[in-house]
Amino acid sequence: MEFPISECPYCGNDEVSVKCKIIGNCNYNIKLDGTRDAYNGEMYDCTILKPMQKYAYCNCCGKRLFKHEHITF
Ligand SMILES: [Zn+2]
Repeated sequence: MEFPISECPYCGNDEVSVKCKIIGNCNYNIKLDGTRDAYNGEMYDCTILKPMQKYAYCNCCGKRLFKHEHITF
């Protein structure tokens, strides 16, 4: 995947974020001893991400960086 920038021009961070809505169903695993350490790593495999913003934002300084038609969800 190619992006118009390789880092945030404001702070140098190399990650962006896009606010998304998560739609889907999952089986949520729960330990019977009351702790919260049951494995739920596959929870997002059966979900659909719908972007709620047209732009990608730096996930460090929060500046708007580019239109995210380049990102596949
Ligand atoms: Zn930044």
